[in-house]
Amino acid sequence: MINIILIGAPGAGKGTQANRLLKKYNLTYISTGDIIRDEIKNNTCLGKKAKLYSNKGLLVPDELVTEIIENKLQLNKSGFLLDGYPRNIKQAILLDEIIKLKNITQPFIFYIDVPEGELIKRLTNRLYCPNCNRVYNLVNNVPRNSNICDICSNALVKRNDDNIEIIKKRIEVFFNDTYPLLDYYGQCAEFFKINGDYSEEEVYKQIVVKIDDNIEK
Ligand code: AMP
Repeated sequence: MINIILIGAPGAGKGTQANRLLKKYNLTYISTGDIIRDEIKNNTCLGKKAKLYSNKGLLVPDELVTEIIENKLQLNKSGFLLDGYPRNIKQAILLDEIIKLKNITQPFIFYIDVPEGELIKRLTNRLYCPNCNRVYNLVNNVPRNSNICDICSNALVKRNDDNIEIIKKRIEVFFNDTYPLLDYYGQCAEFFKINGDYSEEEVYKQIVVKIDDNIEK
């Protein structure tokens, strides 16, 4: 069984790569961002609290996200792909504890590295499908019919937090809180830094080569 963690700034292409890796390795997708957006859409108790932070481009408090992750990993029986978690050192320590406690196979951890200017270009041009969560980009990942999802034909929308002020805040939060994970995971044999400033296909190939080489060992 394999497990994967994708780390990267907003706009690094985690969701896009996740989409392909899930199919190839038959994994359960756990995206804390998608889960939080659903909670906000459904106006749940957690959603109401999360919205206060998410709408400003800030991280939702660890206690709220921890609850989500614990439940998901508790129920999960197959390999998983974590997108958007951990987002800081505290979350990484907690995840390590869950992995140990539940005897989970050590995940592959990929950091997808993309320059800041490119992140802003991608995020200001991003659309997503609120039905199946597929992500598009009007620069290098264009839907076949304009503003319509290729997968489920739903109308595409812009995320509330994809406006320039909030984008800048989210990138700042990434470098303050999430970037230190590179040091945290740096010595792990299963940690790989991937150059994300390439086409979707190239980035996918870089990830798959690392996984396949290391599964075989
Ligand atoms: P994402 O779709 O991963 O960019 O996440 C969207 C928003 O959800 C973030 O800006 C945060 O407000 C919140 N969020 C997602 N994952 C986490 C996490 N692991 N910890 C705290 N907040 C999170």
